[in-house]
Amino acid sequence: MPHPTIHLHDHTFKILFPYEEILAAIEKMAEKMNQDFETEKPVFLVVLKGAFMFAAELMKAVNRDCDIEFIRVKSYDGMDNSKGIDAGMHQKLNVKGRTVVILEDIVDSGNTLEYLFAELKKMEAKDIRIATLFLKPEAYKKDIPLDYVGLEIPNQFVVGFGLDYDERGRGFKDLYALMDE
Ligand code: 5GP
Ligand code: MG
Repeated sequence: MPHPTIHLHDHTFKILFPYEEILAAIEKMAEKMNQDFETEKPVFLVVLKGAFMFAAELMKAVNRDCDIEFIRVKSYDGMDNSKGIDAGMHQKLNVKGRTVVILEDIVDSGNTLEYLFAELKKMEAKDIRIATLFLKPEAYKKDIPLDYVGLEIPNQFVVGFGLDYDERGRGFKDLYALMDE
C-alpha cells in the first residue's frame, strides 16, 4: 500500500498514482513498442536520472532486440526549472542511421525534449521517437509528437518512481504530487 502522504525536505506530497497503475501504463506502452519494433532494432535512450525506474520496468516488458544507452540531463534545481538545461551528451553515443526512442520520466514544458531532439538530429539519427511515462498536457506547448505516453497528470510538481525533489523521493514506487500549502 502506498503512503497517503510523504515528507521530503520542507514539503508534503500526496499520493497521485499507485505503482499498479503506473505498471499497467508501462505495459501498454511496451505492447505498442512490441508491435512497432517487430523488424527494426531501435536504440532506447534513457534520460537519467529520472527515467531509470521507468526504463527498467519498460525493458522487462519489451521483448524485442534493442540497444540501451544512457544520457544524463538536468533541468530542475529543486523545483526551479528556469536555469536552462545541463546535459552531457554521451561522446560515444552512435545513433547514425538508427531509430532512437527517447525514454523520459516526464514531459513538462518540453524544453528538454526539444534539446535532445535537436542533438540526435545532429547525430544523424534516422527516426527519433519519444516515450514519456508522465505528461503534463497543460504545460506541453511544443510540436514534437509524443509517440508513447504512459499517464497524463495535472500541472503539479511530482516525485517518486524515479523522480526527485532535490535528490529525495526517487526510490518510492508510487507517484506523489506536491500538496498546496
Ligand atoms: P521539461 O524540459 O519538459 O520542462 O521538463 C522535463 C524534465 O524536468 C524531466 O525530464 C524531469 O527530469 C524534470 N521534471 C519536469 N516536471 C517534473 C516534476 O513534476 N517533478 C520532477 N521531479 N521533475 C520534473
Ligand atoms: Mg528528466
